[in-house]
Amino acid sequence: MGLGTGEEEAKAVTTSLDDLIEKAGGCAIVDGGFATQLERHGASINDALWSALCLIKSPELVQRVHLEYLEAGADILVTSSYQATIPGFLSKGLSIEQGEALLQKSVKLAVEARDKFWDIAQKNGKHGYNRALVAASIGSYGAYLADGSEYSGSYGPDVSMDKLKDFHRRRLQVLVEAGPDLLAFETIPNKIEAQACAELLDEENVQIPCWICFSSVDGEHAPSGESFKECLDIINTSKRVNAVGINCTPPHFVENLICKFRESTEKAIIVYPNSGEVWDGRTKRWLPSKCFDDENFEIFATRWRDAGAKLIGGCCRTTPSTIRAISRAFKEAS
Ligand SMILES: [Zn+2]
Repeated sequence: MGLGTGEEEAKAVTTSLDDLIEKAGGCAIVDGGFATQLERHGASINDALWSALCLIKSPELVQRVHLEYLEAGADILVTSSYQATIPGFLSKGLSIEQGEALLQKSVKLAVEARDKFWDIAQKNGKHGYNRALVAASIGSYGAYLADGSEYSGSYGPDVSMDKLKDFHRRRLQVLVEAGPDLLAFETIPNKIEAQACAELLDEENVQIPCWICFSSVDGEHAPSGESFKECLDIINTSKRVNAVGINCTPPHFVENLICKFRESTEKAIIVYPNSGEVWDGRTKRWLPSKCFDDENFEIFATRWRDAGAKLIGGCCRTTPSTIRAISRAFKEAS
């Protein structure tokens, strides 16, 4: 099935995301690192399923973290399904039905947190919050492999377009059925997976807005070494992708990448970098940041907004205090 074209059609499915960006004053705030915050609350997530493990072990903690991000000023919650996949759950001895139920639960927990928070905010009268949207997280194939390939982009010669679509298909169906407001493809490391995701949205006739985010390890290219222009040329032909950008990339690369993306796409730009600490995929730990101070995140965020980003948040190692600082900085400016 071919990709659709035409910006006018694209407008028809962007409403909820566009509305939110407008209500937020031209730039909406995405939440921050999820696993980081779970760990701070004592969750043990040293596992191939990573934060998805908490869907099984401590769902109340998942909801607590969502509430903390809402309280900090996040306009968009990203669900805890990044590393939640049906094959991943099967390898833990769960059935397909149980795996699918956990995917649904990831959306349900975020929607419940949003509704709860919004009810209270409205009852309290004057408040500075927007009704948040829930984005169902879809981690890359590399995130499922848990071998660091989401940062190398090398899936090897055996991984075809069809294989990637098959990997993503059922999870995407289950997540969409669970009723999120948005879909968030995260940490995509190469052109082939970007194309697989874009084509899958068409094949599955997905009607909710979606973003596709890439990672970058050199600040210039996708991790595979392919240019972002090549990747965006493909995504630009999809009417179902509403925003494109970067996540889990060091903050000092982001301003340049926003400019690069703006040269290659008309779509909204989304950025939610990590704290600048470097993930070592082989030893599975974070190495300290050499060139970035956590307290400066909101200063960077203001520059990203001025450079044209419409959605800004944080990824690994950022926390509710990072999001609160961005929220304050944006509100003071407007
Ligand atoms: Zn991250």
